Amino acid sequence: MEYRSTRGNRKQRLTGAAAVLQGLAPDGGLYVPVKFPQPEFKLGEMNGLSYQQVAKTVLKWFFDDFSDDQLDRSVLAAYGEQFDRAEIVSVTNNKAGNYYMELFHGPTLAFKDLALQVLPQLMTNAVEIQQLKQQIVILTATSGDTGTASMRGFRNVTGTQVIVFYPEGGVSPVQLKQMLSQQGDNLQVVAVKGNFDKAQSMVKQIFNDREFNQQLHDRGAQFSSANSMNIGRLIPQIAYYFYTYGQLVNRGEISNGEAINFAVPTGNFGDILAGYYAKKIGLPIKKLICASNQNNVLTDFFKTGVYDRNRPFYLTNSPSMDILVSSNLERLLFMIADEDEQLVISLMEQLQQSGKYEISTAMKNQLDDFVAGSANEDEISQEIKRVFDEDGYAIDPHTAVASSVAHRYQQKSGDKTPTVVVATASPYKFPETVFAAITGKSVKQVGLSAVTQLNELLQDKLPAGIQELFEVESKKETVIEPERMEETIIKSVPNRD
Ligand SMILES: *Cc1c(COP(=O)(O)O)cnc(C)c1O
Repeated sequence: MEYRSTRGNRKQRLTGAAAVLQGLAPDGGLYVPVKFPQPEFKLGEMNGLSYQQVAKTVLKWFFDDFSDDQLDRSVLAAYGEQFDRAEIVSVTNNKAGNYYMELFHGPTLAFKDLALQVLPQLMTNAVEIQQLKQQIVILTATSGDTGTASMRGFRNVTGTQVIVFYPEGGVSPVQLKQMLSQQGDNLQVVAVKGNFDKAQSMVKQIFNDREFNQQLHDRGAQFSSANSMNIGRLIPQIAYYFYTYGQLVNRGEISNGEAINFAVPTGNFGDILAGYYAKKIGLPIKKLICASNQNNVLTDFFKTGVYDRNRPFYLTNSPSMDILVSSNLERLLFMIADEDEQLVISLMEQLQQSGKYEISTAMKNQLDDFVAGSANEDEISQEIKRVFDEDGYAIDPHTAVASSVAHRYQQKSGDKTPTVVVATASPYKFPETVFAAITGKSVKQVGLSAVTQLNELLQDKLPAGIQELFEVESKKETVIEPERMEETIIKSVPNRD
């Protein structure tokens, strides 16, 4: 397996290990497989595998430069007791019609753990493979969940330094508490004025700043990324699509080989792209339902072929999806542009300059795998209530976006295909919204008191990752202007002499 940049020459190739370490290509592009693996697997045989085994199988398809032993150790370390459930990913069986793939049983209660528990393992092994002597500085822009999950994954990992930037006022109270409570000698978390798009574009810019990279190099360090721009984060996410499919076959809910839909709450387009990759290598998926909140730039893109981020930015109750520039869409564009890097470069330049681009009819015709829709704040609350009333099942606002969009799509289109809603976060991460939606009462309590209040309502066991928040002391918030991000980074990289 080899990788190349979406904006680079086809002949410039890297191994998986090198791509994981680099994170982002120096030309600003994202790494993608030169050729997709065409694994010869029998779906029926995969159904019997544990989550760890499925993850290992998928990783081996894409990262064949890692040894079996390295991958075995990686998945065992990543998917162990830090998860609340032995099965790692739970698939519910709900009366209301759709299944929910619960990806939030990891230490930080969002799906980001599935990738960010294993990424540090992959990076540590990649350092070995590449015989790298440099210290790795992991730059992360977060819309709320990646930050905590990457700090949790990389805490005290030798040779790494993690710096997380999040938008000031742009994350939920529990997300903020989680970020400020992470313990580790190599972690730093800083709020930046502006929204997530600003933080992410600054991170990209700093990443590709030659002079700044030289400064880091002189200190014996180099950048990598824990955002889904890193291919090492994307590939592990393919595993849960395969695993969930197998679980449904095992339970007799679907027959082996039957095509199903997945509805994915989408922000940076990473999670849903992993589903698209799963389909590309042979998993029977019919439609990928791309669900957005009020920041519905992707809904419009799939409907019209025009991507236009010149629009109001909304702070919503599903903050991890408050994004107008979805990085990973570039990987999809690359595929539907028949791997024409010049075309990708041109589209990305238009996005940079005018905030807008339009794809050709030929490209648009290749988007049949997707259905797109959005849910506003009212629709999200109504969906949380509907699912709770019909099933006694509480979903978080992000999951509710996908659930709502899927539900309305099914009613309108009559599509009866079995559908899995991707449940990306625990309701306890957003207790204020969930409590208000279910009870119809306005919220007076926020953060941990709201957690307690929701817990009294739901009468279930609090996840360990929330429980521990009651016991730790959190740091004070540091807020900076975007212009001060570089200075903050340099300060946190110890000088070797
Ligand atoms: C990150 C996140 C999303 C969006 O996922 P993308 O891969 O960025 O599209 C959705 N829900 C939750 C809870 C998240 O943390």
